[in-house]
Parts: sequence; C-alpha cells; structure tokens
Amino acid sequence: MNAFSFYNPVKLIFGKGQLEAVKKELPKYGKKVLVVYGGGSIKKNGLYDEVMATLAEADLEVFELGGVEPNPRISTARKGIEICKNEGIDMLLAVGGGSVIDCTKLIACGAPYDGDAWDFVSRKAQPKEALPFGTVLTLAATGSEMNSGSVITNEETQEKYGWGSPLSFPKFSILDPTYTMSVPKDHTVYGIVDMMSHIFEQYFNNATNTPVQDRMCEGVLKAVIETAPKLLDDLQSYEHRETILFAGTMGLNNILQMGYNGDWATHNIEHAVSAVYDIPHAGGLAILFPQWMRHNIKVNPARFAQMAERVFDVEREGKTDEEAALEGIERMSAFWTSLGAPTRLADYEIDGSKIDLMAEKAMVYGEFGNFNKLQSDDVKEILTASL
Ligand code: NAP
Ligand code: FE
Repeated sequence: MNAFSFYNPVKLIFGKGQLEAVKKELPKYGKKVLVVYGGGSIKKNGLYDEVMATLAEADLEVFELGGVEPNPRISTARKGIEICKNEGIDMLLAVGGGSVIDCTKLIACGAPYDGDAWDFVSRKAQPKEALPFGTVLTLAATGSEMNSGSVITNEETQEKYGWGSPLSFPKFSILDPTYTMSVPKDHTVYGIVDMMSHIFEQYFNNATNTPVQDRMCEGVLKAVIETAPKLLDDLQSYEHRETILFAGTMGLNNILQMGYNGDWATHNIEHAVSAVYDIPHAGGLAILFPQWMRHNIKVNPARFAQMAERVFDVEREGKTDEEAALEGIERMSAFWTSLGAPTRLADYEIDGSKIDLMAEKAMVYGEFGNFNKLQSDDVKEILTASL
C-alpha cells in the first residue's frame, strides 16, 4: 500500500432516538442556527417538527433554508450564505440526504468568504475558515455525513463538480435509521447503487498489497448485496434500514480508502452527465459503472476476477481472469437491474447528441482516473456504450 495519513474528525452518533444529541452538540458553537433542508420530505414524515421541537428545547434561535434540490445548486447555496452573513449565523444543521449536506458544506465555507462560493467548487480558491455544522441524515447513500466532499451544480453553466476541504467535515452526524424509513423505493435503490459504486471506485486502485482493504471493501459489498433485496421487500424494516445506513457511511468515510487513491473516474463522468441532464446521481452510476468496467478490464483482469469471485461468487475453475471478470460484471449489472436500477441512458431519454459536450465537461481538469487515466476518447466510448 502507499504511505498515508488518515484524518476524520466527524463525531458519528448512530441509533434510535439520537436526535436528542443535537441539544448537547449544537450549543457548543453558539446560539443562532441555520437549519438547511430539501424539498419537503422532512415535513411529510414529521422529522421537521421533531427537529424544531428539539432546537426549541435547546433554546436556540432558528433560521431556515428549505428547498435544496437533489443535485444541489450554487444559487441555493448562495441564498444560504446570504442568510448567514445577514443574520450572523453561528452554526448550521443539515437535515436531509447527500444533497442537503453537500449544500450545507458550501454554505458553511462560503459564509465567512468575501468572494463567490463557486470559487471553491471550481478550485479557484480554498476555504480558510468555515462555520461549524452538524447533520441529521435521512437517506443512506453518499457518505457525505462522514466525509468532507460536496458536489454542487451550476445550473447556468451546466457544470457539476466535486470539491472538499479539511474545513468541510461535519462536526457531528446523527444517523437514526428511523428517519430513512420513508425513503421511497426508487431512492432506496439509488442509495444502494451509490454506496456500492463508492466501494467499486475504491476497490479499483493501483496500489499493491492491500489485503485488509480488499477484504473490508468486499465485506461491506457482500452485506449490502445480502440486505438490499430484503429491504426492498420490506421498506419498513428497521433492521435492514440500519444495515444499509451504516454501509453507506462506511462506503465513503475514507476508512476503506487508506493506503491508496480510489479511481473515481465513473463519478467524474456521471457528474458531467447529470450536469447536462439533471438525472439522479446513482441512476447515472448504475448505467455507467458496468461500461467503465468493461472498458478497463484489460488494465488488470486479475483485479476484476478477484471481485467477481469474492463478491459475486463467480466460479473460477477453467476460466481466464478476463472470462471470470466479465461474468462478474454481468452479475453486478443483473443485480442492479433486479433491484430496479436503470441500465441505459435511453431510460432517461438521453441520446447521443450531447456526448461531445458531456466528454468536454468531464475533461475540464484534464485526464482523470487513478486505476486507469481516461482521455476524451475513452469517455466518449464509455458514454456511447451506455446509450
Ligand atoms: P438526495 O438528492 O439528497 O435526495 C434524493 C431525494 O430523496 C430527494 O427528493 C429527497 O427529498 C428525498 N429524500 C431524502 N430523504 C428522504 C426521506 N427520509 N424520506 C423521503 N424522501 C427522502 O439524495 P442523495 O443520494 O443522498 O444525494 C445525492 C447527491 O449527493 C448528488 O448531488 C450526488 O452527486 C451527491 N454525492 C455526494 C457525495 C459526497 O461524498 N458528498 C458522494 C456521492 C454523491 P427532499 O428534497 O424533499 O428531502
Ligand atoms: Fe456517489
């Protein structure tokens, strides 16, 4: 493995009834809190009322920014930053899924900054300070609750990029599986595809001697594969929601990624696709990942074969690495399809007319991918195979 240092300051507070911890955690940072949430799911499922009652008990002064979109937009983050500046907000509380948390990260870093927060997303500037924030997670998927990453869309320029800073880690994250019970089937599936994709991104790296990391990745993947169909049969199962919630956090809190850099090319291509078409992040991943794998199989067939055997139970006897690898990719695709995930860009009515534009957006920072460096032609091939 490569030399590494690991830093993750997030206090993870997991389990039933843990919302109470907000009363202890938030007042450490001040009095005025901006609560950030999405399009209304927390009002429907009662969490909004619970959060407001808890904040009232903590005697905090509450401001609100609702309406954060899936694939959160820079314009919404700017609104939040304005509230922080005008009202002298001390800290933030994100209540929602990855989109709400990612938007909150940008608001937290943008509030003490004199320029435009897009500077951080477009890597023109690095945050020097940030407001503290916590999260109450409502959807198992991104791992954003325990990492410093954030993905923001600029709807005017059709750009969507990931960014992050040591200052964009949540101070704490509250994960009560109860709050994920109301996630509908489609977003439950997207979450499962996203967390599995995060682990694939990490599994396909170019480090050597990573047996512990490999087994951890394989173990989390196996647990997700075993649990996902059971959860989809019974969306109200606390036990299965709990497993999937924990898996999502473990999938991208960087513990699995110690000692190497993951690939992350498929996420980069997906961001380009959803910048242009605004489709759900994991819908795009479900379509692109099998094609990225087929495109890169020759880079290290043994690596793909290992995944096929250990994660998807492919029999190795009498098969070359490449044959086993291809069977593993087929099984992975079939598993996602069995959950109801999309398989082709056509499922979102995306045709080949904007492949050059998407490739251009994916290439904005030059070649990318750590397992294999992709060039514009590779991106176009993967997109074309995904149509
Ligand atoms: P999301 O975009 O936060 O939420 C998707 C939908 O689920 C929204 O319509 C939301 O409705 C709804 N929802 C959330 N919680 C719910 C609940 N408990 N009950 C019912 N509906 C609920 O989904 P996400 O997959 O967590 O986040 C996707 C974003 O994260 C994308 O922009 C992606 O690029 C980014 N991402 C970030 C990272 C990272 O590390 N930071 C990693 C991967 C992806 P409401 O709006 O009404 O709440
Ligand atoms: Fe993701």
